[in-house]
Amino acid sequence: TTSLVWFRDDLRVADHPALAAGRSEGAVVALYVLDEESEGIRPLGGAARWWLHHGLEDLRAGLERLNVPLVLRRGAAPEVLREVLEASSADAVYWNRRYGGPERSVDQRVKSEAAEAGLHAESFQASLLHEPWTVRNGQGEHYKVFTPFWKAASARHVRPPVDAPARQGSAPANLPDSEDLADWDLLPTHPDWAGGLREAWTPGEAAGHQALEDFLDGPVADYPQDRDRPSRPGTSRLSPYLRWGHVSPFQVWDAAVRARTPRNHQAVQTFTAELGWREFCWSQLYHHPDLAEANLRPEFSDYPWQWPRESGTPHDAGAFPDPVPDGGPSPTARVRAWRRGRTGVPLVDAGQRELWATGWMHNRVRMVTASFLVKNLGIHWRVGEQWFWDTLVDADAANNPANWQWVAGSGADAAPFFRIFNPLTQHDRFDPDDDYVRRWVPSFGQEGYPEPIVDVKQSRAAALEAYQRLRDAN
Ligand code: FAD
Repeated sequence: TTSLVWFRDDLRVADHPALAAGRSEGAVVALYVLDEESEGIRPLGGAARWWLHHGLEDLRAGLERLNVPLVLRRGAAPEVLREVLEASSADAVYWNRRYGGPERSVDQRVKSEAAEAGLHAESFQASLLHEPWTVRNGQGEHYKVFTPFWKAASARHVRPPVDAPARQGSAPANLPDSEDLADWDLLPTHPDWAGGLREAWTPGEAAGHQALEDFLDGPVADYPQDRDRPSRPGTSRLSPYLRWGHVSPFQVWDAAVRARTPRNHQAVQTFTAELGWREFCWSQLYHHPDLAEANLRPEFSDYPWQWPRESGTPHDAGAFPDPVPDGGPSPTARVRAWRRGRTGVPLVDAGQRELWATGWMHNRVRMVTASFLVKNLGIHWRVGEQWFWDTLVDADAANNPANWQWVAGSGADAAPFFRIFNPLTQHDRFDPDDDYVRRWVPSFGQEGYPEPIVDVKQSRAAALEAYQRLRDAN
C-alpha cells in the first residue's frame, strides 16, 4: 500500500509520528502544500519565506535518504490533497496536527473528504507537548494564567521522541508531479536582503539539533542569568527550528531532561519553562483564533493607540487622536523610525537593527522594543506584530501575537499596562558595557546618532494618563 504524508510546520524526519505511521504501512509519498488560497490562512512574511525555501531543501534531502520522494504543490490544500491522493493511488493520508483556527478548518475538510472517498486519514500530536484541550482546571476550563497552566501541564506525561523510520526499499509506483521549489519565488531577489540571514542561520534538521546540543553542553548552566544579556550567547536560539519543526518540543524536552545534573537542575527547569510559554501561547491561539487581530481584553479597543495610514485599517481599533497628543512626529514617522532602528533610543535601535539584519532579536530586547512602540510611541501593538511577522525567521502564529498582547497589556495574563519598561534603564541593566548596542549601532555615542524621537519620561506619563482614562471609562 501507499500512504501520503502531508508535511506542514514539521519539516523533519525524526520524531515525526505521521511519517512513522505511513512507513509502517508500506511506501510513502511526502507532500508539502504552499497554501496561500484557503480562507483565513495568514500569508507568510518575507523572512519566513526565506527560511521555508531552505527548510524544504533540507527536508527533501532528509527524505531522499529514506528514499521518500517529496512532492511540492501550491494551491488550496483540500483541492491539492484530492488531486495528489488520486495521482499517487494512496489509500491513506497522515499528518501531524495544527492548532490555528483556519488551519484546523482546512484539516477537518481534508479529513472528511478523505473519509468520503473511502481513504484512511489520521492525525498525530507532534508540535505541542500538551494539546490545548488537554490542559484544564478543576472546572474544565482552559487556564488564562501561565503559572497554573504550566503547573498543570508539566505534571503530565511527555512521550519520548519517535525515531526516524527506516529507508524504504523502493519508491512508490505512482508518483504525482512536483512543482519546482525555485518557481515559488520564496527567496528575495531584487534586492537580495537575505545576506545577514544566510550569515546568521542554517535552516534544517541537523543544524537545529546542533543548536540544541551546543546549548545543553554549556550555556544552559548559566541560562537563568545570561538569558537577559543580549550580548552573550545565553539562550538556545532554537526558536526558528521549533517554529518550522526541524526540532520537535519532544526532542528538546527529552534532551533537556537527559542533560540534567544536580548542578544545573534549576537552570534546566528555567529553560523548559520557556517551552511552557510556547505551549501557553499556542493554547491562547487555540482558544482565541483571532489572537493576532483582537485584544483579548476587549476594553483595550478604547485605548487611543495610533495607527499609521499605510498600515491599513484595523477592525477593532478605538479612536485615533489626530494630531498625536504629545505633539511629536506623526504615527507614520514614528513607525518608520522604529522599524529602521532610528528612534535615538539605543537599545531599541540595536534590537530593531539586529532584527532587520538577522531575522531574529533577543527576547529581552523584543520586550523593550515592543513596549517602546506601544507605550512610548503610542502605536497599536498590531503594527509591531505585523512587522515582526514579516521580519522574524521564527515568526510564529501564536508566540508573536501572544507576546505582543502580553507587552501591550491587552493579553491573557499580560504584564500590567502601568508596568512600562524604561528602555534607558533596561540598557543600563542588561547591556551595562554597551557591547550589544555598539555591535548593532556603531554610531552610538557619536555625533551622527539622533536624539530620541520622543521624550521617554513624557511619553510614559502620556500613556499612563490615557490608560487611566480608559479605566475610568470602563
Ligand atoms: P530560549 O530562551 O532559548 O527559549 C527556548 C524556546 O522557548 C524558544 O526557542 C521558544 O520556542 C520558546 N520561548 C521562549 N520565550 C518564549 C516566549 N516569551 N513566548 C513563547 N515561547 C517562548 N517567539 C517565537 O518563537 N516566535 C515569535 O514570533 C515571537 N515573537 C515575539 C514577539 C515579542 C514582542 C516578544 C516579546 C517575544 C516574542 N517571542 C517569539 C518569544 C521569544 O522572544 C523568542 O521565542 C526567543 O527570543 C527565542 O530565542 P531562543 O530560541 O534563544 O529562546
